[in-house]
Amino acid sequence: MSSGLKALASEFYLSFGRYIKNSNHLSRSRTYRDFVVTLIWLDKAIEQRRSSIGYLWKEEEQIMKAFDLLEATLGHEMTPGESWQDDINLWQWLDEGVLLVEPARSADSRNCDRAIVLSCGIHGNETAPIELLVAMIKQLSQVPRRLQSRVLFILGNPKAVAQGSRFIDENLNRLFSPQQKQLQPANPEQRRAAELMWMVDQFFSLSAPHQRRVHYDLHTAIRDSEHPFFAVYPYSEEGFSLSAVARLQAADVDTVLLSHAPATTFSHYSHAYHQAEAFTIELGKVKPFGDNDMSKLEPLKQLLEQMLFGQWPTPALNEQTIKLFGVTRAIHRQQQDFSLCFADDLANFSRFKKGQQLAQDGNVVIVAEHDGEAIVFPNRNVAVGQRALLTVIQSDPSILKD
Ligand SMILES: [Zn+2]
Repeated sequence: MSSGLKALASEFYLSFGRYIKNSNHLSRSRTYRDFVVTLIWLDKAIEQRRSSIGYLWKEEEQIMKAFDLLEATLGHEMTPGESWQDDINLWQWLDEGVLLVEPARSADSRNCDRAIVLSCGIHGNETAPIELLVAMIKQLSQVPRRLQSRVLFILGNPKAVAQGSRFIDENLNRLFSPQQKQLQPANPEQRRAAELMWMVDQFFSLSAPHQRRVHYDLHTAIRDSEHPFFAVYPYSEEGFSLSAVARLQAADVDTVLLSHAPATTFSHYSHAYHQAEAFTIELGKVKPFGDNDMSKLEPLKQLLEQMLFGQWPTPALNEQTIKLFGVTRAIHRQQQDFSLCFADDLANFSRFKKGQQLAQDGNVVIVAEHDGEAIVFPNRNVAVGQRALLTVIQSDPSILKD
């Protein structure tokens, strides 16, 4: 065993001991011998990795090949549990498409003041966020930088990404709830939702109490939007945070939908069960790989880099330009005979006048109740009983608090 690894062993063993004591997932009967065997295996794996794919040695200089999250996931290049290290950071492939990067020295990792989850590809055809995170990870692998955060990168639905489809059997972003973890999975999305919740549970449970928790779940929208970049702020019992919204605004995400009720989205899960500053962030419209104008995502990339490597960003809110919308109604389809009274491609956040017809549900005509009431996420094809659209109305920034 290398001397560096030996030096880490006792500290690691102490944390490992605490971990298994607190965990239901690992057998409590694990012994010190098991632990040492694991370390030896890990040491060998690191050495093999260095010589096989990771590193080119040139005299004293060490150059790491760019790590490509997408290729590694779709090509099944990595084994869950595999880890490696650069000069500064420890990289761990926790599961297919789930990459943990944190400062290599455990003391530095503990001293980080943040724990950040960045997810993309929860819907497999939403490519711009995938390209963004792939580029950030490549850059970090080629030019190691000192992290101020533990970071969990997630490529959400690899099977759907491989097919270029939104999902295989079921919308993954409706499956994040504690109940789902207890069920026997009936399809790939249900299995993946349980895996991702477990990963996020572990990630946040191993973060120190002082660490700020963040989860940005990055998407692109199916339809056009009056506001192409917008975020969904999960329902929050303690109210909506001004500083969290100001950070979004710094990334050019200047429209925020304030949720009126709990949901089963990934961002709601992290917010409700791990107290994370969490958002679903829509970054323009769905396009194939290579067709995205990545320059539009530059402000978000800069914000994320500051969150990962710099001082915690605390921009001021521009109350003149931020657009906040509160949900007025969630309209569910009740009848088989259901139609929406506007064009299929009408943009999100299109506004209606009071009395204008929105939908016809059997014999019931649903109309706008206020001037300026806007529609979001309309879908006339949902099953009976499911939500067919949300209506929203602009809110005053005074609703935000800190
Ligand atoms: Zn999406």
